[in-house]
Amino acid sequence: MKALIFEGPGRKTLKDRDIPVIDSATDAIVRMTKTTICGTDLHILKGDVPSCTPGRILGHEGVGVIEQVGAGVTQFKKGDSVLISCISSCGKCEYCRRGMYSHCTTGGWILGNTIDGTQAEYVHIPHADTSLYPIPDGADEDALVMLSDILPTGFECGVLNGKVQPGGSVAIVGAGPVGLAALLTAQFYSPAELIVIDLDENRLQAAKRFGATNTIRATGEEAKQRVFELTENKGVDTVIEAVGIAPTFELCQEIVAAGGVIANVGVHGFKADLHLEKLWSHNIAITTRLVDTVSTPMLLKTVRSGKIDPKQLITHRFKLDDILDAYDTFSKAADTRALKVIIEAV
Ligand code: NAD
Ligand code: ZN
Repeated sequence: MKALIFEGPGRKTLKDRDIPVIDSATDAIVRMTKTTICGTDLHILKGDVPSCTPGRILGHEGVGVIEQVGAGVTQFKKGDSVLISCISSCGKCEYCRRGMYSHCTTGGWILGNTIDGTQAEYVHIPHADTSLYPIPDGADEDALVMLSDILPTGFECGVLNGKVQPGGSVAIVGAGPVGLAALLTAQFYSPAELIVIDLDENRLQAAKRFGATNTIRATGEEAKQRVFELTENKGVDTVIEAVGIAPTFELCQEIVAAGGVIANVGVHGFKADLHLEKLWSHNIAITTRLVDTVSTPMLLKTVRSGKIDPKQLITHRFKLDDILDAYDTFSKAADTRALKVIIEAV
């Protein structure tokens, strides 16, 4: 089968690999139909994610059709259409029972990172019963690809951890697909201010279309001043960091209001400075989280009911043979205006 292999920082190759096989009774093999690229794939390729070692098949999002199941899989059978969670977990251990699937004691594997991923013709899914979701008849598969990672990430790590409140003020730093997913799902809670900060005008225009009350095309001191102008010099109740670099984490500490929360979503390959005296004296909470995808079934219902439309995030479409072009397009978003790129495996 064709698969995109991480060869070490800066290097990836589309290669032939053996089709994966069932090696435990709870496994499934899924034939991929659609996958996509995430900002985390770019971090892996930069060398920011040491848990992903050379030789790994990249990709952690997608939908497909079950090709084979192990004898212990009870919820799925060959031919079922499935949505793949970016996290593979047992659903039974102490952490899974607390909804912390990414810390599962017999799994917690991240596809395309700690185990082989979805940017291939087939993917091996351990703990299939609790790591896959059935696709309802007639559901739009393009929209569902956004549920493997980015929508639950924006919602769980950004909106829920950031305690977005009705009438509250929110700033989202980073208007990539994950920041925009936080923007879409923050609106479940009716905040009064939804400010989005980025340097890319096209992404800020998307943010306006997706419900931002204000956008700021600046970073650092200039962005801080604009946030204070928009919030009667208080700053915002919730800041969601959806970039994953030191300067934007700094900015979050500058623009959070007293009593507020900084919800870190970005994957950071660095150690950040904490302004502890300011954070302490202003009662600031900082949260950070690896997505669990525990909210995926609920988000699936909101998508099915038309409450949110994550398909708006899709800008480009490629075949698996052209996945290197898809990476080029996604990573040069300022020129290509890319948000999510769909890669069709068949
Ligand atoms: P992306 O690279 O598409 O988007 C990042 C955005 O940040 C871009 O729009 C870019 O223009 C903007 N940006 C860059 N520098 C900036 C600056 N100085 N000021 C303001 N904006 C700036 O990535 P994405 O797919 O949207 O993912 C966002 C982050 O979320 C990444 O760090 C990714 O690894 C992380 N992530 C975390 C989890 C999790 O489990 N916590 C899951 C998925 C993704
Ligand atoms: Zn991701």
